Amino acid sequence: MKLHEYQAKGLLREYGIPVPDGSVASTPAEARSIARKIGGTVMVKAQVLVGGRGKAGGVKMATSPEEAEARARDILGMKIKGIEVTKVLVARAVDIASEFYVSLTVDRSARSVQCIASASGGMEIEEVAAREPEKIVRIALDPEAGLVKARHFDALARAFSGKGVAEQAWDIVENMYRLFSDKDCSLVEINPCALDRAGNLVAADAKIIFDDNALYKHPELESFRSTEEYSADEMDARSNGLSYVGLDGSIGCIVNGAGLSMATMDLIKFAGGSPANFLDVGGSSSPDKVFHALRIILKNPRVTAVLINIFGGITRCDDIARGILMAREKLTLRVPLVIRLIGTNEKEGRELLAAAGIDAYDDLSEAVKGVVDRAKETA
Ligand code: GDP
Ligand code: MN
Repeated sequence: MKLHEYQAKGLLREYGIPVPDGSVASTPAEARSIARKIGGTVMVKAQVLVGGRGKAGGVKMATSPEEAEARARDILGMKIKGIEVTKVLVARAVDIASEFYVSLTVDRSARSVQCIASASGGMEIEEVAAREPEKIVRIALDPEAGLVKARHFDALARAFSGKGVAEQAWDIVENMYRLFSDKDCSLVEINPCALDRAGNLVAADAKIIFDDNALYKHPELESFRSTEEYSADEMDARSNGLSYVGLDGSIGCIVNGAGLSMATMDLIKFAGGSPANFLDVGGSSSPDKVFHALRIILKNPRVTAVLINIFGGITRCDDIARGILMAREKLTLRVPLVIRLIGTNEKEGRELLAAAGIDAYDDLSEAVKGVVDRAKETA
C-alpha cells in the first residue's frame, strides 16, 4: 500500500524527522488559506501516487497566498501519468542549498534491509544509478543488529558530506529505520532530503510503501488507504478476503491459487479469449467467498461468461459447489458459467451441482475452450 506524500510526511514527523510545515487542500481557496497560515514562500504539490510530479508540472512554488491559490487552480484537475489530481499539499518552501537522496528498502538477494544514500538527490535514483553509480552508497543492514552507528556511520557520511550534515543524516536514518521496522514497510524514501541554507536537513519529499502481506498486523494503517490505488471492486473483493485485479477482457475468472489463476488466464488468451479479471479465492475457500467472487464479477458489464477453475487441495469442491448454488439463488446469473472441478471432495461437489442441473468439466483445456466459445456467443 502506497502513501501520498502528505501522509508519508505525517508519519515521518511522528518519528521525529524534520518535515516542512504543510497541509493538504482540495480546493484553491483552501490552498490559499493554508499558504496564509504558513506565511512566506510555499510549494504547491500534486498528491498522486506516482513519481516524477515535478517534471510533469505538478510541483510549483508560490510567493503569496494569492499565487498559491492560482497554482492550486492550475494543478488540481490536472492529469499526471493518467491520474487526476484531487488534492494538493501546500508546504513551507525549503530554501534549498543542496539535495540528497536517502531510502530504506528490502534487498531480497541480500535478505536484508538496505539503506541507499546519495549526494545526487532530486532526480530519480534509477537515473543516478545509470549516470553516476559511484555516487550511490549502499548499506546492507543485518536483520538482527539493525542500524549500528559504529558500523554504518562512515558509509552514510560518504553520501552526506559536509560539516554537521552526516550527524543530522544519521538521526534521520535511525528514525526512518524505526518507522520502517515498526510498520513493516517495503520502502521509506526521502528525495530530496534537502539541506537548507541555514544548514538543516529536512524531508522535502517522501514516499512510503507498506508491505501488503504485513498489513494484517497494523489495522491502524487502513485509514491511509487511498481509493485511487484500488478500484471499488478491488476494495469490495479485499474486504471479502479475495485477491482481485480488474482487467479489460470479457471472461470472468474464479480460480483457487495465484499460480493456477495466472495459468488459467494464459490458457484463456491462448484459446483466443480475454480475461476480465484475476481472482484468487484462496486456499480455504468457503461457499461465501465463491458467492462474493461471482457477485463482484457479475457487476462488470463487459463480462459475457465466467470460468470457475478449481483444483481442490485444501479447497473442497463441495464448498465451491455450495457457493455456486448460493450465488444462483441470490444473484441473477446473466451469463453462462463454465465450471471445472477436480480434487478434494470432487464427487460431493459434482453431485450437488448435478442435482441442480449444472455440469462441470474435469479437463481444463476443454473448460477453457468451452468458456471462450460461450463468451463469444453471448457477446
Ligand atoms: P517529485 O518530482 O514527485 O519527486 O516531487 P518533489 O517533491 O521531489 O519535487 C521535485 C523537485 O522540486 C525537487 O527535487 C526540488 O528541486 C523541487 N522542490 C520541491 N520542494 C521544494 C522546496 O521546498 N523548495 C525548493 N526550492 N524546491 C523544491
Ligand atoms: Mn521527489
